[in-house]
Amino acid sequence: MRMRLARLALPRGATFAYLDGESAALLDRAPWDGGAPTGEKVPFREAELLAPVVPYKILCIGRNYAAHAKELGNEVPKEPLLFLKPKSSLVGHGGKIVLPPESERVDHEAELGVVIGKAARNVSREDALSYVYGYTCVCDVSARDLQKKDGQWSRAKGFDTFCPTGPWIETVLDPRDVGVRCRVNGQTRQDGRTAQMIFDVPALIAYASAAMTLEPGDLLVTGTPEGVGPLAKGDALEIEIDGIGTLALSVA
Ligand code: ZN
Repeated sequence: MRMRLARLALPRGATFAYLDGESAALLDRAPWDGGAPTGEKVPFREAELLAPVVPYKILCIGRNYAAHAKELGNEVPKEPLLFLKPKSSLVGHGGKIVLPPESERVDHEAELGVVIGKAARNVSREDALSYVYGYTCVCDVSARDLQKKDGQWSRAKGFDTFCPTGPWIETVLDPRDVGVRCRVNGQTRQDGRTAQMIFDVPALIAYASAAMTLEPGDLLVTGTPEGVGPLAKGDALEIEIDGIGTLALSVA
C-alpha cells in the first residue's frame, strides 16, 4: 500500500506518522523497527516536519551521473564510490543550511534518497528493491573547497545541516526514471533524471551490501545530476523529486 511517512515535532517529542491530507496517524515507533499506528490522529502542519529518518548511517554515492563527474573534471568511476555522512548533518523540511566560516564554496547537490526497510547483507540486484522502505529527497550539501583541500570528504560533506532530508518518505516509487530537480530562489539549477545514473538503485544496494550491512532506517543517497552550484546566505533552496514532493530549505 502507498504510504507517506513523516516524522513530526510534537509536544510529546519526535513522532513518526503516516500523513493523509491534513491529518497524521501517529505510530509508536519507526515502521522499519516494527512500529504500528497507535490509533491516534492529529492535524499536521508543515512546520512540524523533521527529517523522516533516524539512520545508523547515511551512505552516499559520489560521481554517479556522468555529466556531473565531468562538470567537476572527474573521471566516470568504474565502481560505485561510497562515502559516509554523519547523522548529525540531518535537517528536515523548512530547516536551515548553515554555511560554515571554514568554507568559501558550499554547493547544493539534489539527490534521490533511499530508506532501507530491512537488514540487507550481500543482496542481489534482483532482490535489492525488496529491502527498500521508501524514497525521499536529499541535498548532499558539499563544501567544495574543503573537499579538495582535505583529500577525503568527511568534513566537507559532514558539517551540521549538510544533509537536508524530506519532506517525507514515499513508500511506493519506481526509482528507475524520475526527475530530480534543484531550484535556488525559484531558478532551476539542476534538472536530471535517475535514468542517467551510472549505477542504478538495485546495483548500489547490491554493491554496498557486499561491504556492509545496510540496517533498517539507513539512508542511501544516490548521487547528483549535473548543475551543482554555490549557495549564498539568504538563498531559498528547493529539492524536488517526481512522485515524492519538494524539500524546501533556507540558507543561513
Ligand atoms: Zn552527492
